[in-house]
Amino acid sequence: MNREKIGTDSSGVGRKEDLLAELAGQREALIQACWAHQIWSTPKLTTAGGQPVQVLFPGWLNRGEGPDFKDARVLIGGDEHFGSVEIHMNEGDWYSHGHHEDAAYENVVLHVVLHRSERAARAQAGRLIPVFHAASFLTERVLVVMRDPEEMLKRYESLPGRCGLRAALKGPERIASAIAHAAEVRARGKAERLFPLWDSADDDQILFRLIFQSMGYRPYADSFVSIAQRFPLRELALLMDLERSRARDEVLSRWFGALNLLKEPDTPYDGDAGEEYSRWSELWQSLHLPVDDFPILKRVGRPWNSPERRLVGLFHHLYQMSPKGWLASWLDILYELDGLRDESHLRKAALQALERAFSTPEDEPWRGRISFRSPPAGKTAQLIGRGRIIIVMANAVIPFFLAYARRRGDKELEKLLYRLFIVLPPEAPNSKTRFMEHRLLLTKPLPATLRSQQGLLQIYQDFCTSFYEGCHACHFPDLIGDPRTH
Ligand code: SF4
Repeated sequence: MNREKIGTDSSGVGRKEDLLAELAGQREALIQACWAHQIWSTPKLTTAGGQPVQVLFPGWLNRGEGPDFKDARVLIGGDEHFGSVEIHMNEGDWYSHGHHEDAAYENVVLHVVLHRSERAARAQAGRLIPVFHAASFLTERVLVVMRDPEEMLKRYESLPGRCGLRAALKGPERIASAIAHAAEVRARGKAERLFPLWDSADDDQILFRLIFQSMGYRPYADSFVSIAQRFPLRELALLMDLERSRARDEVLSRWFGALNLLKEPDTPYDGDAGEEYSRWSELWQSLHLPVDDFPILKRVGRPWNSPERRLVGLFHHLYQMSPKGWLASWLDILYELDGLRDESHLRKAALQALERAFSTPEDEPWRGRISFRSPPAGKTAQLIGRGRIIIVMANAVIPFFLAYARRRGDKELEKLLYRLFIVLPPEAPNSKTRFMEHRLLLTKPLPATLRSQQGLLQIYQDFCTSFYEGCHACHFPDLIGDPRTH
């Protein structure tokens, strides 16, 4: 640390040592809170290299993975920078935490540190990241204001958005209609982005790929798309004509093999899992296909969401739909629901039909397994649960059939899809939806529907994270209504 640069309180000659002692016991939350509220000893901020710094928006505090503040907007040496801000007590933490190799930190525009080190932070691509030496702008007075930094951070997080203040003024109906509108924009946008896929694939293969992608979402999406392309539906359709246990061996040995899930174990697997492992390995090796073209599958997340379980679940879905054809079976489900479009029990009927389409037979051993290696779990569960089905509906089935209906001018199918959007339950809440619910200062809960949730996500994407200006100049409050009129 450069002691000469530590600021002194104008009223506190000789307090520098006290300040240093105080800082030594502080945690990152102090610097985060100073950054969030922009509480420094002077408004004239500079980088450690002497370039003027002006903070137009400090960014949204991020408590999850990735940089501490996202979507910040900072002028450095007169140039405008949009991106993330990472905060550390020690500059060297950038490397010890592995951020230099992490793509999530690629767009960090400023590294805010309390203690300098010899080695400045560089992003993955080698870009040097400007450093803001927070110690140069701290005084004892700042520390008094920040005596409870965690509380100051909570306060920063808990502020409603300008949209929330406007919503409170205009009433819950106005915000509900703005959310519904945003949800329709999102659904339309998702469908329109699919149109180019028809240049290189047919209906069945596009839907097949989208379902694979959303079944792999998030950690496995790329790997799952790669196997949907490597083993296209028209090839698998031939295998699906086989009796179920043979079709299962043929298809799953391909998928597991291609995703490197049939690697030689250190110790042989026992029991049924071991037999299945050997059988699928032999089948896979007999195909003589390379695995190098596939992304390495990193195992993350909850064990019951293992890639193996999702793949086996997908097989059963595919097998169940295959006698009539993939697309035709999906259309059957939708047209059957169309008869209930205006009925109050559409939600229940839709969930039952979807759960049937993704159900796993009782005799499927993977209902009680997580991987080949893990011992039997002592319980069984559907391989594709309701939460995953809703994700598949939101990201694959509804966008696909909206695009399909638009291409054919099928207005009735479009209407049904929008109805499903309104009646289906939401996915599990996530940090973005919780953020929006909080910012919108909702006085009564939104309807628990896919539409509400998708609307919140669209507002978050279009307004909170697209302009890098926080609430300050956001246009979304104007869409809720003019504050001067009723
Ligand atoms: S940026 Fe806009 S939409 Fe997001 S919380 Fe602020 S006012 Fe609301």
